[in-house]
Amino acid sequence: MFVDKAKIHIEAGRGGDGAVSFHREKYVAAGGPDGGDGGKGGDVIFVADDSFSSLISFRYQRKYIAGNGENGAAKRCTGKSAPDLVIKVPRGTVIREAESGRVMADLSGDEPVVLAKGGRGGKGNQHFASSTRQVPRFAKPGYDGEKFDVILELKLLADVGLVGFPNVGKSTLISVVSAAKPKIANYHFTTLEPVLGVVKLDDTRSFVMADIPGLIEGAAEGAGLGHEFLRHVERCRLIVHVLDVSGSEVRDPIEDFEKINKELRNFSEELSECPQIVAANKADLADEAQIERLRTYITELGLPFFVISAAAAQGTKPLIQEIARTLDTLPPVKRFEPEAVPEKAPEEAKRFEITVENGVYLVTAPFMEPIMRTVNPDDWSSLQYFERVLRSSGIIDALVKAGVQENDTVAINGFEFEYVD
Ligand code: GDP
Ligand code: MG
Repeated sequence: MFVDKAKIHIEAGRGGDGAVSFHREKYVAAGGPDGGDGGKGGDVIFVADDSFSSLISFRYQRKYIAGNGENGAAKRCTGKSAPDLVIKVPRGTVIREAESGRVMADLSGDEPVVLAKGGRGGKGNQHFASSTRQVPRFAKPGYDGEKFDVILELKLLADVGLVGFPNVGKSTLISVVSAAKPKIANYHFTTLEPVLGVVKLDDTRSFVMADIPGLIEGAAEGAGLGHEFLRHVERCRLIVHVLDVSGSEVRDPIEDFEKINKELRNFSEELSECPQIVAANKADLADEAQIERLRTYITELGLPFFVISAAAAQGTKPLIQEIARTLDTLPPVKRFEPEAVPEKAPEEAKRFEITVENGVYLVTAPFMEPIMRTVNPDDWSSLQYFERVLRSSGIIDALVKAGVQENDTVAINGFEFEYVD
């Protein structure tokens, strides 16, 4: 089965918590704070790998979760950072965020892409001693890692896409002009996955050709299979439209040509504007009149027209040269640029306001009321929870934007504390 679309969940690791600890040594009375920092959570990283040709493995495993950083420990020991989780995908995989649909990455190149960043580790109490706070009995919790539901979509990278009805000879053509060895048979549906072939012109010049299957199969049967494959033509710079000029299957090549173009148009306007070269195949079975009728029709449309017999590799050389010549005049293979994260309006329930009075940062946040009632400033885990809520609700970010500095006083719904970064 050829799978070229999958939805998965990715989650980067959380940072480890900072430690609260005090130096202890024989004969040394009350030592200073020496709680170490938490380690960083693992990132989720994607990388293109040419040994993969489909997204099938993502049908079986749908959750990808990187490890958490370890907590800090006494004696200024920093917790271990978690290793990154590296996910290999076939080249040409485009990754979108499921929720917004925005493009996050296009894995067409060789550079790995970090899609979900692991959380930083929290600072241990070693950082929080000051002249007024000699015994800091707190440390910072680790930060959460990013997480997303993402949609992986394979969009093959090819310069040229072969399109045409089943059995017109697409697979035969790619097999005689490149080293690709697709299945060739005299029945429909033989090609169920796209096949890429490198066409070499000489020692230095080459281009990639894709045999795009099933274009019309689904559409003709009303099953809609055809469109599934069209996303692979989306990146092509040039389309080679293969026709059976002999009408060996009792179809009219002119009708075929129009039907396929209609399919392309239905899929996307952009695709229908992609330049085309027409290859009239099975010339060995056709008579002169059939060839001339098609030639007249196609050339009147202003399209380049080539008569070939793919099975005998006849006429393929001039076709390949015309393809190469045309490619030289066309822009490179389309890459999808990452799109910005859409700004989300905060939910009504999580609204807050910040004002500054006499150097004190006053936060009004009705949604914090119930949480404040349960926060126990003397309890370590309670404070950690409080800090997490402040972060996840965006209050910390907003305070920083408002200019809060280390040791400034912050008051949330009347509860005062010192800001420590
Ligand atoms: P596809 O479905 O478009 O990929 O078509 P295939 O390449 O699988 O070819 C379908 C059938 O047409 C096979 O039996 C081929 O051998 C045959 N065929 C392909 N090209 C030619 C040609 O130039 N002449 C003749 N006579 N048969 C051809
Ligand atoms: Mg085929």
